[in-house]
Amino acid sequence: MVNQSEELFEKAINLIPGGVNSPVRAFKAVGGKPLFIKQGQGSKIVDIDDRSYIDFCMGWGVLILGHCHPFVQDTLKKTIQKGTIFGTPTQGEVELSEAIMQAFPSCEKVRLANTGTEAVMSAIRLARAYTKREKIIKFDGCYHGHYDPLLVKSGSGVLTLSLPSTPGITKDSAKDTLVLPYNDFNSLEIAKNKYGKEIAAIIVEPIMGNAGVILPENGFLEALREYCSSTGAVLIFDEIITGFRVAYGGAQEYFNIKADLTTLGKICGGGLPLSAFGGKKEIMDLLAPEGPVYQAGTFSGNPVSVQAGLATLKVLKNPQVYKELEEKGETIEKGIKEFASKYEIPLSFNRAGSMFTLFFAKEKVRDLKTASTSNTKMFSKFFNLMLDSGIYLSPSQFESQFISLAHSTKDIEETLDAIEKAFKNLAREFELGPYK
Ligand code: PLP
Repeated sequence: MVNQSEELFEKAINLIPGGVNSPVRAFKAVGGKPLFIKQGQGSKIVDIDDRSYIDFCMGWGVLILGHCHPFVQDTLKKTIQKGTIFGTPTQGEVELSEAIMQAFPSCEKVRLANTGTEAVMSAIRLARAYTKREKIIKFDGCYHGHYDPLLVKSGSGVLTLSLPSTPGITKDSAKDTLVLPYNDFNSLEIAKNKYGKEIAAIIVEPIMGNAGVILPENGFLEALREYCSSTGAVLIFDEIITGFRVAYGGAQEYFNIKADLTTLGKICGGGLPLSAFGGKKEIMDLLAPEGPVYQAGTFSGNPVSVQAGLATLKVLKNPQVYKELEEKGETIEKGIKEFASKYEIPLSFNRAGSMFTLFFAKEKVRDLKTASTSNTKMFSKFFNLMLDSGIYLSPSQFESQFISLAHSTKDIEETLDAIEKAFKNLAREFELGPYK
């Protein structure tokens, strides 16, 4: 039976390329057609066919408090009544910058922007201006938005410069980006020996979320810190996912390490478009109008997003919040591992606090290469079985799932029941464990 989501998608593909306004929404990685969602409340979303799902995508990690948190909603209603944009400074921008700086002591100054891509683009520009160097290092599997020099893939070897990973990006935009494997100390050393002081910046997701969750191995972030401190390169932590997620002070608090520049987005806009970048005063002061590096935005520091962000951070500031999220994460992890072992599902489970990925891989996932050994057919089957049980996961093997404060004990029990049922099905279909 054709449902309303399917009908709307048929219409959308004639109007919007691929029917979606951001590619991963299209369900290409899991088969089937995307659901059109009309409403969210707490841990749940409801599609236009009135089916309800427990949501683990949570606006791709934005909604750490869940959908329609009452305090955020009240703040938004009051804010909108007073106007939505003035194109002037507002008090909220000062308050939000201060809140970000308190959470991230490495940010001695902050500028607000709109999207993660924009924050990253500006941080790279600043790093290049500050160091007067052009080359940057990024890591395979880390995503930093759709900024040309970062939408690149590695060349044929560690030291060959990168190639555009999508048409439309010039060779010139890609040529100054070096792509290294994540968690690979050796290639970092090789890069340091060859490029040493030519590198303007190293940009990294301190916990990878965009190839699925991949944690840095002991000493990896410290090695990046050391590389930058000893060569004068700028260390950029892209905390667009991890900021206010793994701890109030992001991965920098979680691992007790400081970046020179930090990019933030998602959670700090409280559900509305907002991003930020901040860091050392001497770097940030290069920004116009204080300094010569141009960066601007009509909607930057938008008063509505700023208030949603401030309201969210007020709730998150209580350390109990992160304790509770960790406990929920632990419960999910314990259950999933138990069922994987019961049904002999090949699984590498990675988690940092309330973000996690189940990789259907035999080998421990520690970089893009090991992530790529995952059985994507199995994930796609799993995703659709979960959907049938009323659980909405981020629709790709190579994405993170997000737990929010709104996920109740009952939600987690229901999710684990659905996972056990799905694993049993997978075992049957792939002839594993009891069905060998
Ligand atoms: N950096 C990271 C780590 C991200 O996860 C994302 C988006 O998911 C971005 C940058 C780009 O942010 P946006 O989609 O807001 O441009």
